[in-house]
Amino acid sequence: MTAPVQLRGLNHFFGNFQALKDINLEIAAGEYITLLGPSGCGKTTLLSIMGGFIEPSEGAVLIGGKDTTRVPPARRPTTTVFQDYALFPHMTLRDNVAFGLRMAGANRRDRHRRADEMLALVGLEGGGAKRPHELSGGQRQRVALARALAVDPDVLLLDEPLGALDLKLRRAMQDELKSIQRRIGTTFVHVTHDQEEAMAIADRIVVMNAGRIEDAGPPARIYQKPASLFTAGFMGEMNRIPARRGDSGLETPFGSVNLASPEASSLILCLRPEAIRTTQAGFSIGPARVRDAAFFGTHVRAHFSPDAEPDFVLVAHLPPGRVPDQGEVMTLWADPDSISVFPQEN
Ligand code: ATP
Repeated sequence: MTAPVQLRGLNHFFGNFQALKDINLEIAAGEYITLLGPSGCGKTTLLSIMGGFIEPSEGAVLIGGKDTTRVPPARRPTTTVFQDYALFPHMTLRDNVAFGLRMAGANRRDRHRRADEMLALVGLEGGGAKRPHELSGGQRQRVALARALAVDPDVLLLDEPLGALDLKLRRAMQDELKSIQRRIGTTFVHVTHDQEEAMAIADRIVVMNAGRIEDAGPPARIYQKPASLFTAGFMGEMNRIPARRGDSGLETPFGSVNLASPEASSLILCLRPEAIRTTQAGFSIGPARVRDAAFFGTHVRAHFSPDAEPDFVLVAHLPPGRVPDQGEVMTLWADPDSISVFPQEN
Protein backbone atom coordinates (compact mmCIF):
# COMPACT_ATOMS: atom_id res chain seq x y z
CA MET A 1 0.00 0.00 0.00
CA THR A 2 1.01 3.61 -0.20
CA ALA A 3 0.16 7.01 1.26
CA PRO A 4 1.22 10.66 1.06
CA VAL A 5 3.12 12.27 3.95
CA GLN A 6 2.79 15.89 5.01
CA LEU A 7 5.25 17.51 7.38
CA ARG A 8 3.90 20.77 8.77
CA GLY A 9 5.89 23.35 10.69
CA LEU A 10 8.18 20.85 12.41
CA ASN A 11 10.65 22.15 14.98
CA HIS A 12 12.59 19.92 17.29
CA PHE A 13 14.77 20.69 20.29
CA PHE A 14 17.14 18.41 22.20
CA GLY A 15 17.43 20.48 25.40
CA ASN A 16 18.48 23.95 24.17
CA PHE A 17 19.79 22.66 20.85
CA GLN A 18 17.45 23.07 17.88
CA ALA A 19 17.93 20.03 15.63
CA LEU A 20 15.07 20.80 13.19
CA LYS A 21 13.97 24.25 12.06
CA ASP A 22 10.61 24.93 10.42
CA ILE A 23 10.39 21.79 8.27
CA ASN A 24 7.54 21.80 5.75
CA LEU A 25 7.37 19.09 3.11
CA GLU A 26 4.71 17.35 1.04
CA ILE A 27 5.57 13.83 -0.09
CA ALA A 28 3.26 12.26 -2.69
CA ALA A 29 1.99 8.68 -2.39
CA GLY A 30 4.45 6.36 -4.15
CA GLU A 31 7.24 8.91 -4.27
CA TYR A 32 10.87 7.90 -3.61
CA ILE A 33 12.40 10.68 -1.49
CA THR A 34 15.97 10.90 -0.25
CA LEU A 35 16.91 13.09 2.69
CA LEU A 36 20.45 14.20 1.89
CA GLY A 37 22.84 16.26 3.96
CA PRO A 38 26.05 16.28 5.98
CA SER A 39 26.42 14.50 9.30
CA GLY A 40 24.42 16.16 12.06
CA CYS A 41 22.05 18.11 9.76
CA GLY A 42 18.95 16.43 11.23
CA LYS A 43 18.11 13.68 8.71
CA THR A 44 17.76 10.87 11.25
CA THR A 45 15.81 13.10 13.62
CA LEU A 46 13.35 13.91 10.83
CA LEU A 47 13.02 10.24 9.83
CA SER A 48 12.52 9.26 13.49
CA ILE A 49 9.71 11.82 13.76
CA MET A 50 8.03 10.28 10.67
CA GLY A 51 8.44 6.81 12.19
CA GLY A 52 7.05 7.86 15.58
CA PHE A 53 10.28 7.26 17.53
CA ILE A 54 10.57 10.97 18.38
CA GLU A 55 7.67 13.30 19.13
CA PRO A 56 8.43 16.73 17.60
CA SER A 57 8.60 19.78 19.88
CA GLU A 58 6.29 21.60 17.43
CA GLY A 59 4.40 20.79 14.24
CA ALA A 60 2.51 17.86 12.77
CA VAL A 61 3.05 14.71 10.68
CA LEU A 62 0.13 13.61 8.50
CA ILE A 63 0.21 10.20 6.82
CA GLY A 64 -2.59 9.41 4.40
CA GLY A 65 -4.22 12.67 5.51
CA LYS A 66 -4.42 11.57 9.18
CA ASP A 67 -2.58 13.31 11.99
CA THR A 68 -0.12 10.70 13.30
CA THR A 69 2.16 13.08 15.22
CA ARG A 70 1.56 11.30 18.53
CA VAL A 71 0.84 7.78 17.25
CA PRO A 72 3.48 5.25 18.47
CA PRO A 73 5.64 3.44 15.85
CA ALA A 74 3.79 0.10 16.00
CA ARG A 75 0.42 1.75 15.37
CA ARG A 76 1.31 3.94 12.41
CA PRO A 77 1.41 2.79 8.76
CA THR A 78 5.20 3.04 8.57
CA THR A 79 8.10 0.64 9.02
CA THR A 80 11.74 1.58 9.44
CA VAL A 81 14.86 -0.17 8.14
CA PHE A 82 17.81 0.75 10.33
CA GLN A 83 21.44 0.76 9.21
CA ASP A 84 22.41 -2.16 11.47
CA TYR A 85 19.49 -4.34 10.14
CA ALA A 86 18.87 -5.71 13.67
CA LEU A 87 17.97 -9.24 12.49
CA PHE A 88 17.29 -11.87 15.17
CA PRO A 89 20.35 -14.20 14.99
CA HIS A 90 18.61 -17.27 16.44
CA MET A 91 15.67 -17.13 14.00
CA THR A 92 15.48 -18.39 10.42
CA LEU A 93 15.16 -15.82 7.65
CA ARG A 94 11.50 -16.80 7.23
CA ASP A 95 10.79 -16.16 10.93
CA ASN A 96 12.75 -12.91 10.83
CA VAL A 97 10.71 -11.67 7.88
CA ALA A 98 7.44 -12.91 9.43
CA PHE A 99 8.14 -11.32 12.82
CA GLY A 100 5.90 -8.26 12.35
CA LEU A 101 3.06 -10.44 11.05
CA ARG A 102 3.36 -12.69 14.12
CA MET A 103 3.08 -9.61 16.35
CA ALA A 104 -0.01 -8.61 14.37
CA GLY A 105 -1.58 -12.04 15.05
CA ALA A 106 -1.37 -13.61 11.57
CA ASN A 107 -1.54 -17.42 11.52
CA ARG A 108 1.55 -19.52 10.79
CA ARG A 109 0.58 -20.52 7.24
CA ASP A 110 -0.19 -16.97 6.14
CA ARG A 111 2.98 -15.68 7.82
CA HIS A 112 5.17 -18.17 6.04
CA ARG A 113 3.51 -17.64 2.67
CA ARG A 114 3.98 -13.87 2.97
CA ALA A 115 7.58 -14.24 4.23
CA ASP A 116 8.47 -16.48 1.27
CA GLU A 117 6.87 -13.96 -1.12
CA MET A 118 8.91 -11.13 0.40
CA LEU A 119 12.15 -13.13 0.32
CA ALA A 120 11.50 -13.77 -3.38
CA LEU A 121 10.85 -10.05 -3.94
CA VAL A 122 14.30 -9.17 -2.60
CA GLY A 123 16.04 -11.96 -4.55
CA LEU A 124 16.39 -14.54 -1.74
CA GLU A 125 13.93 -17.09 -3.08
CA GLY A 126 14.16 -20.45 -1.29
CA GLY A 127 16.43 -19.09 1.47
CA GLY A 128 13.80 -19.08 4.23
CA ALA A 129 15.38 -21.83 6.33
CA LYS A 130 18.80 -20.15 6.57
CA ARG A 131 19.95 -18.10 9.52
CA PRO A 132 21.43 -14.56 9.42
CA HIS A 133 25.04 -15.69 10.12
CA GLU A 134 25.03 -17.64 6.83
CA LEU A 135 24.47 -14.44 4.84
CA SER A 136 26.66 -11.69 3.39
CA GLY A 137 26.11 -8.05 4.38
CA GLY A 138 24.14 -7.39 1.20
CA GLN A 139 21.91 -10.42 1.80
CA ARG A 140 21.25 -9.36 5.39
CA GLN A 141 20.25 -5.95 4.07
CA ARG A 142 17.75 -7.67 1.75
CA VAL A 143 16.26 -9.63 4.65
CA ALA A 144 15.83 -6.43 6.65
CA LEU A 145 14.05 -4.92 3.65
CA ALA A 146 11.82 -8.00 3.23
CA ARG A 147 10.93 -7.89 6.94
CA ALA A 148 9.99 -4.20 6.72
CA LEU A 149 7.85 -4.78 3.62
CA ALA A 150 6.13 -7.93 4.93
CA VAL A 151 3.67 -5.92 7.03
CA ASP A 152 2.70 -3.93 3.91
CA PRO A 153 3.45 -0.42 5.21
CA ASP A 154 2.13 2.68 3.44
CA VAL A 155 5.47 4.37 4.00
CA LEU A 156 8.90 2.72 4.28
CA LEU A 157 11.56 4.70 6.16
CA LEU A 158 15.19 3.76 5.47
CA ASP A 159 18.03 5.15 7.60
CA GLU A 160 21.33 4.85 5.68
CA PRO A 161 20.24 1.33 4.63
CA LEU A 162 23.28 0.75 2.41
CA GLY A 163 25.84 2.42 4.69
CA ALA A 164 27.50 -0.85 5.75
CA LEU A 165 28.00 -2.20 2.21
CA ASP A 166 31.08 -1.83 0.02
CA LEU A 167 30.82 0.56 -2.91
CA LYS A 168 30.12 -2.00 -5.65
CA LEU A 169 27.39 -3.78 -3.69
CA ARG A 170 25.99 -0.45 -2.68
CA ARG A 171 25.53 0.65 -6.30
CA ALA A 172 23.88 -2.69 -7.17
CA MET A 173 21.51 -2.46 -4.17
CA GLN A 174 20.56 1.12 -5.10
CA ASP A 175 19.26 -0.11 -8.46
CA GLU A 176 17.42 -2.94 -6.74
CA LEU A 177 15.84 -0.75 -4.08
CA LYS A 178 14.54 1.56 -6.76
CA SER A 179 13.16 -1.28 -8.85
CA ILE A 180 11.44 -2.90 -5.82
CA GLN A 181 9.93 0.46 -4.92
CA ARG A 182 8.61 0.86 -8.48
CA ARG A 183 7.03 -2.60 -8.37
CA ILE A 184 5.24 -2.20 -5.03
CA GLY A 185 4.46 1.54 -5.21
CA THR A 186 5.03 2.16 -1.48
CA THR A 187 6.24 5.65 -0.47
CA PHE A 188 9.98 5.41 0.38
CA VAL A 189 11.90 7.98 2.46
CA HIS A 190 15.61 7.14 2.43
CA VAL A 191 18.28 8.92 4.49
CA THR A 192 21.77 9.18 3.01
CA HIS A 193 24.80 11.47 3.06
CA ASP A 194 25.97 10.10 -0.32
CA GLN A 195 25.12 12.49 -3.18
CA GLU A 196 25.53 9.85 -5.86
CA GLU A 197 23.23 7.48 -4.02
CA ALA A 198 20.61 10.22 -3.73
CA MET A 199 20.85 11.00 -7.44
CA ALA A 200 20.76 7.34 -8.47
CA ILE A 201 17.68 6.50 -6.51
CA ALA A 202 15.38 9.43 -5.78
CA ASP A 203 12.40 10.90 -7.54
CA ARG A 204 13.07 13.96 -5.40
CA ILE A 205 16.06 14.89 -3.25
CA VAL A 206 15.52 16.92 -0.09
CA VAL A 207 18.80 18.64 0.82
CA MET A 208 19.18 19.46 4.51
CA ASN A 209 21.69 21.66 6.30
CA ALA A 210 21.84 22.59 9.98
CA GLY A 211 18.26 21.49 10.69
CA ARG A 212 16.68 23.19 7.68
CA ILE A 213 15.54 22.11 4.22
CA GLU A 214 17.84 23.97 1.80
CA ASP A 215 16.39 22.61 -1.42
CA ALA A 216 13.95 19.97 -2.65
CA GLY A 217 13.49 18.79 -6.22
CA PRO A 218 14.28 16.19 -8.88
CA PRO A 219 17.97 15.16 -8.99
CA ALA A 220 18.73 16.87 -12.32
CA ARG A 221 17.33 20.21 -11.17
CA ILE A 222 19.09 20.03 -7.81
CA TYR A 223 22.37 19.25 -9.58
CA GLN A 224 22.09 21.70 -12.47
CA LYS A 225 20.21 24.61 -10.84
CA PRO A 226 20.75 24.35 -7.07
CA ALA A 227 18.60 26.71 -5.01
CA SER A 228 21.36 27.69 -2.60
CA LEU A 229 25.12 28.04 -2.40
CA PHE A 230 25.15 25.21 0.14
CA THR A 231 23.35 22.82 -2.24
CA ALA A 232 25.63 23.88 -5.09
CA GLY A 233 28.71 22.97 -3.06
CA PHE A 234 27.29 19.78 -1.60
CA MET A 235 26.16 18.16 -4.86
CA GLY A 236 29.38 17.19 -6.63
CA GLU A 237 32.26 19.27 -7.97
CA MET A 238 31.46 22.93 -8.55
CA ASN A 239 33.51 25.93 -9.67
CA ARG A 240 32.87 29.02 -7.58
CA ILE A 241 33.85 32.19 -9.41
CA PRO A 242 33.87 35.31 -7.22
CA ALA A 243 32.31 38.42 -8.79
CA ARG A 244 31.72 42.07 -7.87
CA ARG A 245 29.02 44.28 -9.30
CA GLY A 246 30.76 46.87 -11.52
CA ASP A 247 29.80 49.53 -14.10
CA SER A 248 29.92 47.11 -17.03
CA GLY A 249 28.34 44.06 -15.42
CA LEU A 250 29.77 41.49 -13.02
CA GLU A 251 33.54 41.68 -12.72
CA THR A 252 35.14 38.24 -12.47
CA PRO A 253 38.80 37.16 -12.58
CA PHE A 254 38.20 36.45 -16.30
CA GLY A 255 36.74 39.91 -17.12
CA SER A 256 33.26 41.44 -17.13
CA VAL A 257 30.17 39.36 -17.79
CA ASN A 258 26.50 40.19 -18.09
CA LEU A 259 24.27 37.80 -16.17
CA ALA A 260 21.04 38.16 -14.24
CA SER A 261 22.00 38.19 -10.57
CA PRO A 262 20.56 38.80 -7.11
CA GLU A 263 20.90 42.22 -5.44
CA ALA A 264 24.29 42.07 -3.70
CA SER A 265 27.66 43.73 -4.28
CA SER A 266 29.65 40.49 -3.88
CA LEU A 267 28.49 37.39 -5.69
CA ILE A 268 29.52 33.82 -6.45
CA LEU A 269 28.99 32.32 -9.92
CA CYS A 270 28.58 28.54 -9.70
CA LEU A 271 29.40 26.46 -12.74
CA ARG A 272 29.89 22.69 -13.09
CA PRO A 273 33.14 21.50 -14.72
CA GLU A 274 31.18 19.74 -17.48
CA ALA A 275 29.27 22.92 -18.38
CA ILE A 276 32.47 24.62 -19.62
CA ARG A 277 33.30 24.58 -23.33
CA THR A 278 36.22 25.78 -25.43
CA THR A 279 34.03 26.13 -28.53
CA GLN A 280 31.51 28.92 -28.86
CA ALA A 281 28.37 28.37 -26.76
CA GLY A 282 25.81 30.92 -25.51
CA PHE A 283 27.98 32.81 -23.09
CA SER A 284 31.65 33.79 -22.97
CA ILE A 285 33.35 33.44 -19.57
CA GLY A 286 36.55 34.97 -20.97
CA PRO A 287 40.10 33.95 -21.90
CA ALA A 288 42.09 31.62 -19.67
CA ARG A 289 45.43 29.81 -19.75
CA VAL A 290 45.72 26.02 -19.49
CA ARG A 291 47.66 25.03 -16.35
CA ASP A 292 47.42 21.33 -17.03
CA ALA A 293 45.11 18.86 -18.75
CA ALA A 294 44.70 15.08 -18.79
CA PHE A 295 42.66 12.51 -20.70
CA PHE A 296 40.13 10.68 -18.46
CA GLY A 297 38.36 8.46 -21.01
CA THR A 298 34.91 10.05 -20.91
CA HIS A 299 36.33 13.58 -20.76
CA VAL A 300 39.45 15.73 -20.68
CA ARG A 301 39.96 17.31 -17.26
CA ALA A 302 41.68 20.67 -17.53
CA HIS A 303 42.67 23.39 -15.07
CA PHE A 304 42.49 26.98 -16.32
CA SER A 305 43.62 30.26 -14.77
CA PRO A 306 43.03 33.84 -15.95
CA ASP A 307 46.29 35.78 -16.53
CA ALA A 308 45.00 38.59 -14.29
CA GLU A 309 44.65 36.18 -11.32
CA PRO A 310 46.96 33.21 -11.88
CA ASP A 311 46.14 31.72 -8.46
CA PHE A 312 42.48 31.26 -9.35
CA VAL A 313 41.80 27.82 -10.86
CA LEU A 314 38.75 26.74 -12.86
CA VAL A 315 38.20 23.01 -13.44
CA ALA A 316 36.70 22.02 -16.80
CA HIS A 317 35.61 18.63 -18.12
CA LEU A 318 35.90 19.04 -21.87
CA PRO A 319 34.64 16.57 -24.48
CA PRO A 320 37.24 13.84 -25.10
CA GLY A 321 39.22 14.97 -28.11
CA ARG A 322 42.38 16.97 -28.25
CA VAL A 323 44.11 17.44 -24.90
CA PRO A 324 45.02 21.16 -24.77
CA ASP A 325 48.68 22.14 -24.31
CA GLN A 326 49.96 23.57 -21.07
CA GLY A 327 50.22 27.37 -21.38
CA GLU A 328 47.74 27.58 -24.27
CA VAL A 329 45.22 30.43 -23.99
CA MET A 330 41.62 29.52 -24.79
CA THR A 331 38.32 31.34 -24.58
CA LEU A 332 35.96 29.55 -22.22
CA TRP A 333 32.23 29.36 -22.91
CA ALA A 334 29.15 28.07 -21.14
CA ASP A 335 25.40 27.90 -21.53
CA PRO A 336 24.01 30.78 -19.36
CA ASP A 337 21.39 28.32 -17.99
CA SER A 338 24.19 26.26 -16.48
CA ILE A 339 25.39 29.15 -14.29
CA SER A 340 23.81 29.87 -10.90
CA VAL A 341 24.56 33.19 -9.20
CA PHE A 342 24.31 33.59 -5.42
CA PRO A 343 25.12 36.42 -3.03
CA GLN A 344 28.49 35.85 -1.35
CA GLU A 345 28.06 34.45 2.15
CA ASN A 346 29.93 36.22 4.91
P1 ATP B 1 24.27 11.49 10.66
O1 ATP B 1 24.35 11.49 9.16
O2 ATP B 1 25.61 11.69 11.31
O3 ATP B 1 23.49 10.36 11.22
P2 ATP B 1 21.97 13.28 10.89
O4 ATP B 1 21.83 14.28 9.81
O5 ATP B 1 21.11 12.07 10.81
O6 ATP B 1 23.49 12.87 11.06
P3 ATP B 1 20.76 13.66 13.47
O7 ATP B 1 21.13 12.33 14.02
O8 ATP B 1 19.34 13.87 13.10
O9 ATP B 1 21.70 14.05 12.26
O10 ATP B 1 21.19 14.76 14.54
C1 ATP B 1 20.94 16.14 14.35
C2 ATP B 1 21.57 16.91 15.50
O11 ATP B 1 20.88 16.63 16.70
C3 ATP B 1 23.03 16.54 15.74
O12 ATP B 1 23.74 17.72 16.08
C4 ATP B 1 22.97 15.60 16.92
O13 ATP B 1 24.14 15.69 17.70
C5 ATP B 1 21.76 16.11 17.68
N1 ATP B 1 21.06 15.00 18.38
C6 ATP B 1 20.52 13.91 17.82
N2 ATP B 1 19.93 13.11 18.74
C7 ATP B 1 20.13 13.72 19.93
C8 ATP B 1 19.76 13.40 21.27
N3 ATP B 1 19.07 12.31 21.57
N4 ATP B 1 20.13 14.26 22.24
C9 ATP B 1 20.81 15.38 21.95
N5 ATP B 1 21.20 15.76 20.70
C10 ATP B 1 20.85 14.94 19.71
